[in-house]
Order: sequence, then structure tokens, then C-alpha cells
Amino acid sequence: MNTLHCGPALVTLPMPVLVVVEDVGWWRGEDGSHLGQPYRNRFPRSHCPDDYRALARLGRGLGMRVPVGMVLGEWDRDNILAEVPGATWQGQGWDNQGNVGPHLDQAAACLRDSGRWLELACHGLCHEFWQQGAMSRSEFHDEEGRLRDEAVVRRHLAAFDDLLRGNGLPSAPRLFLPPALNHGFGARQSMQRLLADFGYRFVVTRFARMRCQMPPQTPWCAWEHGVRLLERGLAPVAWHEVAAAPSWDFSGPVLPLHWGNLLHPEPQKNGAVVDAWVEMLLRETRGPERLLVPDLQACWDQCVVWSLGSLTDQGGKVVVDLRRAWEVPGFSGSFSLKVSAQGGSGAGPGLGPCRVIPLRCRGAEVTVDIVGAMAGSGGPGQRQADSPWREKGNF
Ligand SMILES: [Zn+2]
Repeated sequence: MNTLHCGPALVTLPMPVLVVVEDVGWWRGEDGSHLGQPYRNRFPRSHCPDDYRALARLGRGLGMRVPVGMVLGEWDRDNILAEVPGATWQGQGWDNQGNVGPHLDQAAACLRDSGRWLELACHGLCHEFWQQGAMSRSEFHDEEGRLRDEAVVRRHLAAFDDLLRGNGLPSAPRLFLPPALNHGFGARQSMQRLLADFGYRFVVTRFARMRCQMPPQTPWCAWEHGVRLLERGLAPVAWHEVAAAPSWDFSGPVLPLHWGNLLHPEPQKNGAVVDAWVEMLLRETRGPERLLVPDLQACWDQCVVWSLGSLTDQGGKVVVDLRRAWEVPGFSGSFSLKVSAQGGSGAGPGLGPCRVIPLRCRGAEVTVDIVGAMAGSGGPGQRQADSPWREKGNF
């Protein structure tokens, strides 16, 4: 159970909320699919460094290190992809010089300077796969979720690292976002094993779209070869919708957006599009049910407890059962509760403002003195590591 009435308090294990942005990195916006080129993001202009500043603005506004899924093919300064099988529609005649210019250095500087707010993730080289010049979806798996030739996949992952380094971008990404949601799970030839070899630790994708040789261990979190998979859910707006108005049903821990959703055809107006999403997310996560998380690991931890933990009342104290959570690889023991006084006015009907109680645990269960905490001081939304509300349970 994720909600508990405990004395004068409503205690919840809130659902984490993490924003993930895909299809970042194209320089050209045009949908080239009718020419056998990538779909890109069907954006009505070329991209520019301001479009990266918009992403940093999103992270800063949310207080979140937002994962951004990069497609790096158009960052190829030296045409190295000519030697990577299946990477582009031009094969060995690949020539990217038309996309090379000072904007690469400017955008790279923005991404380096924004490491606090943006985490670069792998979304591919050019998103799709080409055989004899013909495009097929998508880069790492076919549309049935079958892994492409393992040696070729390794070449693509290695080239992605080369493009990061060649552009002075933060390297060693830990998150992989499968392009077009084509992915496999539990197969003998496992993408997760390859990802682990390249240092990846997370995949965010839609479980219902995976080709599964074994079922995911839980509806929201799965794992294989040490790589953790987080359910992505459905995007609330289409991948090609430009300057999208904010809307989402909060149907799961991840809000998947696409770059163009957050951008305006006039770059100087990007900020207004981003700010509207920030305002909506801040407003809709104020209540007891949801929690904006600071990063990917915090999302994983909170998701594990939200989906597998439970709350019980023991004489005015709340006990959080973490036994199932500890069965999940990569669970760090850190998560948060929310507490609100009942009968006040504020975030929800009949509720006072919510307070966030961050906890760091090591044991199978943790006991939190909610009643005592309600009498304590502190403003709403506090995140104090050593607050008087700290657990008194097993460490
Ligand atoms: Zn994509």
C-alpha cells in the first residue's frame, strides 16, 4: 500500500517523475524518410545551440538532471561513419560536411557546461539501419525486436563513443534509449550484455514493445546482465509535435518527450515553451502522490520502493517494508516519503502542504516517527539528509 493515514498525517510513497527527452542531436530537422533518410524530428528549421540551452533550462527549472537521448550521426566531423556498416543511407560515401560548423563547438560547450542539468544518453547514430542503401527500422533491433548482427551493434556503440569524444562531449553514457522502441529482453543474444560491456547501466523503454524471451521481473523495473530497465510509458504528445502545450496523465514514472516538443520555430521563443512544461510539472507534483526526482538513479530507487514497498501503521509510526525492494539490483536504499497534515488547505483537497522526507536505509524495513515529525519544524518540500524525521529503523 502506498498511502497511509497515520494520526494527523497522510503518508505516501510517491511515484517518481523523471523527464526523458529523445531525438536530440539532429542538425537538420527535416523528415527524410521519404528519401530513405532518417525521420529526424520533422522540425521546421535547422537546429541551433539555443535548442540545447532550452534543454538546460528544463533541467534547471525542474531541479533535475534530465536524460537526453542523443543521435550523433550529424555530429560526425570526420565522416567516420563511412566505415560503420548500416550506420547511414550513404554507406561508404557518407559525407557529413554540410552539417559541420562552429555550431558544433557552441552546442558542445553548452552540454559540457550543463552537466548538472543534462545527462547524455545513447539513442543511436542515425536512429535507423541501412542495408544496400535501404532504410529499415531501427538501428540496433529490427521491428520484431531481434538484435542485429552483434559485431555490427558493437561497431555502432563504439562509434557513438567516438563521436562523443571527437566532439568533446561528456563520454561514458550509462543510459541507452532504444530508437523507435525496438528492443529485446531475455534473449540468448542480449543487447543488455552488449550494453554492459560498454559501461551502460540503464535502459528506458516500453516493456510492451520489447521482444521478451522471459517476462520482465516487475511491471516497472526489470534487469538483465546488470543492466536495469525502466518502463518508459507512452509519450503524451507526438514525436513531431512542435512547441507542444504541456499535458500528461502521469501514468508512470517517466515522461517521455521529444526534442521538438520543447522547441519553438523561432529559437528565441524556446524558453516560453520549456517554462510552460516546468510550471505544469512543478504544480502537478506538489501533492502527495508524485515526486520530481533529481536524476535517473533517484528515479530507479523511488520506482523500486513505490512499486514493491509497502506502508503499515504501527502505533503512530510508519513502517516501510523494503524486503522486495532489496531483491532488485541497483537499489541503493535511498527514497522519499511525502507527509501532509490532513484537514488543512493547500496542495490537495483537505490536505496541508506536503513535506518530502528523504530516507537512506539498509535494512529490510524502516520505521519513521511520523507523529513526532509532524510536531517538528521545517517547511514544505524540505530535503534534509539529517532532519529529525530520519528513520529509526534498521541501518
Ligand atoms: Zn527516437
